[in-house]
Amino acid sequence: MSEISTIDYPGYVAYMVFTEGCNLKCTYCQNPELLTFRKMGFGKMLFEIRMNELIDAVVVTGGEPTLQENLPKFLRLIRRMGHKVKLDTNGLGQHFYDCAKEADYIAMDIKTEPSGYRFLRGLGLTDEKINSLIERTKWVIDNKEEYEFRLTCVYPYITNRAIPNIGALLQDAKLVYLQEARDAERAIPPETIEKLKERLSKFIRGKVEVRLL
Ligand code: SF4
Repeated sequence: MSEISTIDYPGYVAYMVFTEGCNLKCTYCQNPELLTFRKMGFGKMLFEIRMNELIDAVVVTGGEPTLQENLPKFLRLIRRMGHKVKLDTNGLGQHFYDCAKEADYIAMDIKTEPSGYRFLRGLGLTDEKINSLIERTKWVIDNKEEYEFRLTCVYPYITNRAIPNIGALLQDAKLVYLQEARDAERAIPPETIEKLKERLSKFIRGKVEVRLL
């Protein structure tokens, strides 16, 4: 499944790739149909990208892209064509590092404080997996020039109490977005998001921004 977007990778005309399947089941998921959607093959997508001269980037989103074994090779081919690659990820797929190395920009979701991942729906996260998520977060900060971390503001995942632990995880990050989840059950209202931003900013060296829909 694909479409063209001028807003998902600012400054670029991006071919959107929606990968199938996710290892989480967030209550506020915008793309729940992709949890079961059968995707178009990567070969056909490469052909479409080659044939459209307006396209100068590819955004891969989901579902969770880093579950796809053949995605790193696809991204490598895209970059060889001279296009930029943006990867949207929850950081929890088994091919995370291979995909992330091929991305020019990473937008990584942080769902809640690290210990809260145990209680997310979908993947029952063990301590080992949570530690691996922490390592991946730090890897992005240490190794990528362009990235953002995104916190979707829904109770009970993003709370005043969780902010110090999220802040400790992201303390060296360059850019963190607290984003509104307007239609979600238990979405946090914009005025509260602003207060969370002020609190989170105290823990983070880089910029903390609010993204309203
Ligand atoms: S991680 Fe993203 S794609 Fe997966 S269920 Fe959550 S919101 Fe949906």
